[in-house]
Amino acid sequence: MIRLQDVRKAYGAVEAVKGVSLEVRPGECFGLLGPNGAGKTTIARMLLCLTQADGGSISLFGQRVTRMPRELYRRIGVVFDSANLYDEITVVGNLQYAAASFGAPRSRVDEVIEQFGLGPHRNKKVRHLSKGLKQRTAIARAIIHNPELIILDEPTTGLDPDVAQEVRGILADLYRSGKTLLLISHIMQEVEQLCSRVAIIKDGRIAVMGSVSELRDQFASELVLKVRGNPKPVLDEAAQLGLRVVHHSGDSAQLAGAPAQVWTALRQLLSRDPDAQGIKEVHAAGPSLEEVYIRVVNGP
Ligand code: ATP
Repeated sequence: MIRLQDVRKAYGAVEAVKGVSLEVRPGECFGLLGPNGAGKTTIARMLLCLTQADGGSISLFGQRVTRMPRELYRRIGVVFDSANLYDEITVVGNLQYAAASFGAPRSRVDEVIEQFGLGPHRNKKVRHLSKGLKQRTAIARAIIHNPELIILDEPTTGLDPDVAQEVRGILADLYRSGKTLLLISHIMQEVEQLCSRVAIIKDGRIAVMGSVSELRDQFASELVLKVRGNPKPVLDEAAQLGLRVVHHSGDSAQLAGAPAQVWTALRQLLSRDPDAQGIKEVHAAGPSLEEVYIRVVNGP
C-alpha cells in the first residue's frame, strides 16, 4: 500500500529524512514513533506529495508518485494536527462540503454522523465543539469518501485521557473494518494498542522496525522460564544455573535469567524430560515498548 525506498529530504542544511525505506501492507496499522524533529511529519508530507522528496522513491497503491494524482488522493484520508475543519461552519456543513469535494454520495454524511456519534452535535458550529468532538469530526471528515488508507499525525495529542481513549476506539474500529492506517504518534500506549508494526525514527533514519512483540524480544535482556509439574529439581539448581526464582507454588515455578542461562537450563530440563512434559512455556519477558523506545532514542 505504501513503499518508501531510500527516501531523503533536506531543508537547507537540515537533513530531516536520511534514507528511509519501509513498507506498509494492506490492512496494517503501522506506527511511526520518534522524538520531536525526528522526521515523522516530513515522511507523511512526502507520502502525500505535499513536500517533494530529494531522493529515493515513493509508491502508493503500487504506483510510483512524485505528485499526487486525483484518483490516488481519493483513496487516502488524512488527519493532521491542524484539524482541517471550517470553524464557522456546522459539523454537518463541514461534512457536506468534504463529501462534495471528494465526490462522495451525500448519504455518507449521515452515515459518518451516525458512525461517530455526532448526531446531537450536527448543527453546532465547529468552533463551539470540545477538542474531542472536533477530533471526531476531523476523522469523520477524513473518511467521508471511504478511503482505503488513512494517515494520522498525532490524532490524540492534547486530548484528555478519556477522550483520547475514545478516539483510539474509533481508530481501532477503522482498523478492524480493514482500513490501512499510518499512525504518527508519541504515545506508546496508543501505538502498543493499535499498531501491527512500528518504526522508531531517530535523526531522520529508521532506528528499529518490527511488530511490538518483535521489538520487545529484540531488546529483551532476560527470558522467563515457566515450569509446571514437578519444578523441584529446577528450583534446586536455579542458583547454580544462574536463574532467579520469580515465583513458585506446588506444581509450577517461574524463573528468570539472561537468555543464555535460560537456554542452558532448558536444555538440561529437556535432557531429563525429553517429552518436555514438565515445561509449560518459555517466553521472552521483554521490556515494554516505552522502555524499548527510551533505549533506542537515548542510545548511541
Ligand atoms: P514532531 O514530533 O515535533 O512533529 P517530526 O518527527 O514530525 O517532529 P519533522 O516535523 O518532520 O519531525 O521535522 C524534521 C526536521 O526538519 C526538524 O529538524 C524540523 O525542524 C525540520 N523541518 C521540518 N519542516 C521544515 C520546514 N518546512 N522548513 C525547515 N525545516 C523544517
